Amino acid sequence: LTKTRLRLYLCMPLLPHNIPHISSGQGNEPGDDLTITYKELLHQVCKFANVLKSQGVKKGDRVSIYMPMVIELVVAMLACARIGAVHSIVFAGYSAESLCERILDSQCTLLITADGFYRGDKLINLKLIADDALQKSLCCSVFCLSSGFHILCFHQVPWNPEVDVCWHTLMDGASEDCEPEWCESEDPLFILYTSGSTGKPKGVMHTVSGYMLYTALTFKLVFDYQPGDVYWCTADIGWITGHSYITYGPLANGATCVLFEGLPTYPDVSRMWEIVDKYHVTKFYTAPTAIRLLMKYGTEPVHKYKRDSLKVLGTVGEPINPEAWQWYYNVVGDKRCPVVDTFWQTETGGHVLTPLPAATPMKPGSATFPFFGVIPAILNESGEELEGPSEGYLVFKQPWPGMMRTVYGNHDRFETTYFKKFPGFYVTGDGCRRDKDGYYWITGRIDDMLNVSGHLLSTAEVESALVEHEAVAEAAVVGRPHPVKGESLYCFVTLNDGVSYNKALEAQLKQQVREKIGAIATPDYIQNAPGLPKTRSGKIMRRVLRKIASNERDLGDISTLADSSVVEQLFENRCCAAV
Ligand code: AMP
Repeated sequence: LTKTRLRLYLCMPLLPHNIPHISSGQGNEPGDDLTITYKELLHQVCKFANVLKSQGVKKGDRVSIYMPMVIELVVAMLACARIGAVHSIVFAGYSAESLCERILDSQCTLLITADGFYRGDKLINLKLIADDALQKSLCCSVFCLSSGFHILCFHQVPWNPEVDVCWHTLMDGASEDCEPEWCESEDPLFILYTSGSTGKPKGVMHTVSGYMLYTALTFKLVFDYQPGDVYWCTADIGWITGHSYITYGPLANGATCVLFEGLPTYPDVSRMWEIVDKYHVTKFYTAPTAIRLLMKYGTEPVHKYKRDSLKVLGTVGEPINPEAWQWYYNVVGDKRCPVVDTFWQTETGGHVLTPLPAATPMKPGSATFPFFGVIPAILNESGEELEGPSEGYLVFKQPWPGMMRTVYGNHDRFETTYFKKFPGFYVTGDGCRRDKDGYYWITGRIDDMLNVSGHLLSTAEVESALVEHEAVAEAAVVGRPHPVKGESLYCFVTLNDGVSYNKALEAQLKQQVREKIGAIATPDYIQNAPGLPKTRSGKIMRRVLRKIASNERDLGDISTLADSSVVEQLFENRCCAAV
């Protein structure tokens, strides 16, 4: 393909008319929902594409989007794509500072936002945060969506007529016809900043053809998408999973999807299963952290709902510990549904290691094998390729269509980050083990690897052993410098509701890890952690935990931290004794 017309993606009225819904939008409140057809979506997208043009947005311009999980977010991103503008979506949980940083880095001229929304019972005043970000960056105009189904109406938000323009006012007068802009296959489609758990966020750039082809194909095969399926991915569109597997992949297949604005625990911990039954969801995609969160409440909230429509269960975001995998498979899927553990990254655009449902024999906790066209390898520290069962750096030997093309504005950083350590390979930054059957097991980020007395240990492995104990809901393990062993193991554990921490439990946990992995992995310290420092996307910030373990108060950049009070509490209760 040398040229792709974005119309390819948006011309949904050409699809058979018996595919009625693009999406059932399920709001934060159970009674708040809507459906939209592909034809209606096309009209909305064309109208908004015309609005963008009227605001002076042209092909190649960057547009920042800071919105909740509403249909208008999908409309905004597709309208950008339709006119060849490059969207840069910033997750609506990010602070003004993070938003400003991303606006400046992407040099965008327009920001699309909403007045506000409820996440669970918490009101998020998005427009106020956007205003603050704008003050900090002083370079864009704010384009505000003030929509009827949010609690805050347009009049209640502070308004600056010199800068702000109203979505509804402009949409009312816009035409439903907008010819798509022709694009080269390698023209940029979007920029998405990576989670930024380390250093300055990187603007990962994806291009039109390869990305769309790859997300469309992986969606179809990995979820075995068939006409009649109802697909639901619980991710937020602010992350890559939402880009690839809520918007581009499913819509390019004409899939019927559920778009969910709320939380898995609001108004109660059955919410996910209530939605599965309400829409007869067949293919369901979520993250291990959500599974572990719900596991804490036992099986009763799951069993309240039938879930008999489910056919395939997907997981993404971090290694899934076997205990969570089993719960997902046995309790959620009633042992009927294959689990697809999909390993991929913002950078890879789509799945790179994954089972194909019902075709690949599963092993709980393994992302199994590469997707078609992906050639993984495992390297040792010296960059030598390891054969057979082995453990080391996960790299890829040849590009695939959905791979990122550059770090926006900093191609050197792209080359240095991904290709310098092992020339000729794309370095994922993840550790990986290959077993005797050729299955790949992600062992966690290489920067989370520990070297204890000359033995390489994966933090994910120790965490999994801890989480297998019935008292433990979540665990995070980091290294603490040790004068003899190099590093010692410092473990933070969050206990299940109603369990209290004591010395007997601590001894049991140490014994559990000894038994699961070996004496070398015996935790040196275990700290009771009622909360763990997480990014807003729910990833544990081990960098911060390492500082707590070593009692270093200089935490570096913690702008992505969701709740900073957790850190203070952990510092207060840290384990002080020398090993
Ligand atoms: P992000 O780019 O923020 O989506 O994060 C990508 C990282 O998440 C990968 O490098 C892995 O460390 C982790 N990850 C994503 N999916 C999986 C998975 N299925 N198994 C293990 N780790 C995963």
